[in-house]
Amino acid sequence: MDIAIEEYDVELIMADQYKNLYILLENSYCSTCRGASTIVDYKPFLNNLNDIILKGFCAECGGKVNRYIETGERRQNAEVAKHIRNVLALFKKRKK
Ligand SMILES: [Zn+2]
Repeated sequence: MDIAIEEYDVELIMADQYKNLYILLENSYCSTCRGASTIVDYKPFLNNLNDIILKGFCAECGGKVNRYIETGERRQNAEVAKHIRNVLALFKKRKK
């Protein structure tokens, strides 16, 4: 299950890679345009593999675009992602 995170979570997970986030944003694949496009108005999520998924829209055509950022493969980033997932799970439980 994908869980919603915040932009500052993305910054924490990506750490030193965060400064290059704009490169990833500008190289998102749009299936409608059939090529690289820029993702806009995105919301960040974490998937089961602790990768970040940005769910947003194509700057060219306005179609839905998902941009995967594979952080799960880098151990340190994955640890941060796991931690954020655990904190969010605890927070949800408390709200019930
Ligand atoms: Zn497009």
